[in-house]
Amino acid sequence: MGEKKDWGKLVRRFESLMRLKYFPVGLKMFEDKSELAKVPFLRRPGHKGTLCQLIGLVRSFDWTVGADVDDFLFATCPSILGLCEVPETHRNGTFRNIVWAATKEDGRKMEASIPRISTGKYEAVAMAPLAYDAFEPDMVLIYANPAQMMLLINSLQFSRYEVMRFHCVGESSCSDALARCFNTGKPSLGIPCYGERRYGHVQDEDLAMALPAGLMEKALHGMEALYRRGIRYPISYAGAQADIEPQIPVSYKKLDEVMAKARGKGSPLLVGITGGIACGKTTVSAMLEKLGVPLIDFDLIARRVVEPGTDALAKIVEYFGKQLLMADGKLDRKMLSEVVFRDLEKRKKLESFTHPPIYEEFFRQVAAITSEDPRAIIQVAVPLLIESNLCYLFDTVVVVHISAAEQARRLARRDDITLEAAENILKAQLPIESKKPFAGFLIDNEGELETTRKQVEALRDELEKLRSGKQG
Ligand code: ATP
Repeated sequence: MGEKKDWGKLVRRFESLMRLKYFPVGLKMFEDKSELAKVPFLRRPGHKGTLCQLIGLVRSFDWTVGADVDDFLFATCPSILGLCEVPETHRNGTFRNIVWAATKEDGRKMEASIPRISTGKYEAVAMAPLAYDAFEPDMVLIYANPAQMMLLINSLQFSRYEVMRFHCVGESSCSDALARCFNTGKPSLGIPCYGERRYGHVQDEDLAMALPAGLMEKALHGMEALYRRGIRYPISYAGAQADIEPQIPVSYKKLDEVMAKARGKGSPLLVGITGGIACGKTTVSAMLEKLGVPLIDFDLIARRVVEPGTDALAKIVEYFGKQLLMADGKLDRKMLSEVVFRDLEKRKKLESFTHPPIYEEFFRQVAAITSEDPRAIIQVAVPLLIESNLCYLFDTVVVVHISAAEQARRLARRDDITLEAAENILKAQLPIESKKPFAGFLIDNEGELETTRKQVEALRDELEKLRSGKQG
C-alpha cells in the first residue's frame, strides 16, 4: 500500500476543487470479517439491504458501515463484491427475466456481463468517508455530475495520458464502477442504475466513479495543474452568442506563428531558466552569461511594459481603477497581484493587457540577438515559467533547485526577513519538487558556488550539442 497518506488533507482539497456535494467514499475489502470490529465507529445495518443503500449512508450521511454476505437481501450485491457465488437461478437468466430482461437468454447474457470481484478471498466490506481515515482503502467512490466527472477524467489524464473507456451493464451498474475498477486497477465510470436511484439516494444528474485509492493524489495533482491553467468547476460561461476570441489563450490562436518565431528551423536555441524563489536562478544565469550565453529577462520585460506612459498601464488603470497607482504614478504591483491572486477572471483580464506587449518585446529581443548571431543559444529567465505554462516556447527548460529548508534560509538571509516569514512565502508557491518533472536539465545549487559553476559549464556543453542537433 506504500506510506500512509494524510487522507483528510488530500480529500478536503479535492472536495473544494471539485465542489462535491457528497463525501468521497473509501472502500476496503476484508479477508476476515472479524476485522470489521476494528474499524472505528463502524455501524452494521440493523436489517438486510442492498449495497447501494450502504454507499448512500456513507456518501450522504457520513456513516462508516460494514457488511458481510448475511447483511444483503439477495445475492446480486454480495456476488458483485465476491462475497458469495452467483446462484444458478441468476446465472441461467431466471432472476433477470423477472423484471429486467425479456427472455431468460437476455437475462443470462446480462448476468454474464456483470463485472464481479472473484469469490473465495473476501468475507466482508467496509466503507467510510475517505476524509475520516478509518482504514487504508482499496478504492474510492466519487459521486458527481457529468461536468464534475469530466474534470475528474481530465485530471486523471493530465499526465501519463490514457483514454478512458466506459462500460454499462444496465441494472446493477454499481459493478461497472466498483468491481471493474477493483479488477482492472483502473478508474471506472458508471451511470448509476435504477436500484441506486431508488434505494441509494442517487440523484438524476449523478454519475459514479471508482478509482484505485493510489490514484487520488494523481487526480488531485492533475486538477490543481488544470486549475492553474484556468480549467475549473463550475465551468465559467463564455457565451454562445458572444465573440469569444478574447477568451481564447493567445498561444492557442497564434501557436504556429509563435512556434515558427521561437523554435522554427534556423532559429536560435531558446532555453528557459526557472526554479523557485531564491533557488539561484539569477546566480546560474549570470554564470551562463559569463560563458557567452546571452540572457533575456522575462521579469524585467514584464515590469517595463507596465511602466508609466505604456498602453498596458493605461488599460490596467481603466479596468482596475486608479487606486493601483502609487504616488509617483507607478503601478503598485504588490496590490495588483493581491487583487488577481484568487480571481482567475481578473487575472485573465490582466494578462490580456500585458501578454501582447510582453511577447512583442520578447521576440524583438530574440530578433536583435539572432541578427548578430543566427546560431545563438539564448537563455530566458522566467521565474513563473511552469506556473504560466510557457514550456512550449522553449527548446528546453533548466530548473535550478535547492532543498526547501535551504531555500527558506537563503530567502530569509537575502531579504532580511525571519525564517518563519520566508517559510510562509514558500508555502504560497508551487513547490520546487513539482517543477522538476518539466526540466530538460536540472542544476542542483544546494552546495558551494564552485559546484554549481561546474554544473553550469557542463550544461553549456549540453546546450551546444542541442543547438547542433537543432540547426544541423
Ligand atoms: P529570486 O527568485 O528571488 O529572483 P533567484 O532564484 O534568482 O531569486 P538568487 O538571487 O540567484 O536566486 O539567489 C538567492 C540568494 O541565494 C542570493 O542571496 C544568492 O547570493 C544566494 N545564493 C545563490 N546560490 C548560492 C549558493 N550556491 N550558496 C550560497 N548562497 C547562494
